[in-house]
Amino acid sequence: MSLWRAVRIMGVGFSQLSWSLTRHRSLAGACPRAHWFQYWTLDEPEHGRCKTLKRLTNLDMLAGTVVDRQVEYALEQVRAGNPLPPDLVERGLRTWERMLAASRLQARRLLEGQPLPYGAQPLMADYYGQPISDREIERCALKVESSLSGFMNCELGARLIKVHPCRWHAPRSEHDTALVEFQVEGIRIYAQIDFHMERQGHWLVIVDWKSSSRVGTDEGLQLAVCGLWGLDRGFGQDQVHLQAAHLPDCPIWAPKNITELEYDAARSQIVVDHQRESQLTEVRDRKGTPVVYADRAAFPPRPGPVVCAGCKFRAVCPEGQAITQTV
Ligand code: SF4
Repeated sequence: MSLWRAVRIMGVGFSQLSWSLTRHRSLAGACPRAHWFQYWTLDEPEHGRCKTLKRLTNLDMLAGTVVDRQVEYALEQVRAGNPLPPDLVERGLRTWERMLAASRLQARRLLEGQPLPYGAQPLMADYYGQPISDREIERCALKVESSLSGFMNCELGARLIKVHPCRWHAPRSEHDTALVEFQVEGIRIYAQIDFHMERQGHWLVIVDWKSSSRVGTDEGLQLAVCGLWGLDRGFGQDQVHLQAAHLPDCPIWAPKNITELEYDAARSQIVVDHQRESQLTEVRDRKGTPVVYADRAAFPPRPGPVVCAGCKFRAVCPEGQAITQTV
């Protein structure tokens, strides 16, 4: 038996360490095994299924995706010399309906073992056969409606479209995830930049579209990380302006600088997360290349009725299945 086969049987997955907000949340989550399924299964028997399970989403995130795509579409219309689409809200609601219907089909395909089309995001509830109440669907449809209506009527949007699109970020293809990659303290960072515009050497404005009025727990960290990307690109701290745009509130133009203290807090969080994950992993040689390995035993399952019911990876987790079958 080859050494590599032996490694697989031991349940040791490999990947590379990096930092993203999603990874930070996953590491801080209630179940270490869910984090392992999310990031460390490469070459493990579960890898193929984990890769597809990762794409499962929930209603709120799906609504956020619809809003992000429609705002991007509206801005592309302006870039092309057209006015903002007056039917943006209706368009968004039609897309929302379409994505809900597509989720049911995609979940069925997944269950039948068929591959998903690129970019497909089925709902976890559809995949696991959990009922979704009309009230929840209505709540998220309202989120789409109020966010897009807020975008169409907000001062922030009006100010953005007055800036010549040559200052905006480059046009994005349908499958562009708006991810940027850079380094902080030698750690590779991935961050999503929804919208940015800049004048090289003078100013950079970054806007993160939010489909909720509620300020998220990680919002400060998220903005600071976007700001660190600006610093990495050579902008000065006072040249980087950031705004979390809560679209249902019809936001006014309010991009702000971030303080040194906030940047330091973000850097520290990145380093703390990185050290924590490093301590749970080890670097080994794989075909002459140093690779980070994570033993699944270092990421034990912590099952619970609530956490497992909301976990994407239940289908590959015996502990999660056991607990959800007993409740
Ligand atoms: S199903 Fe439960 S125990 Fe298993 S990975 Fe998910 S949260 Fe952890």
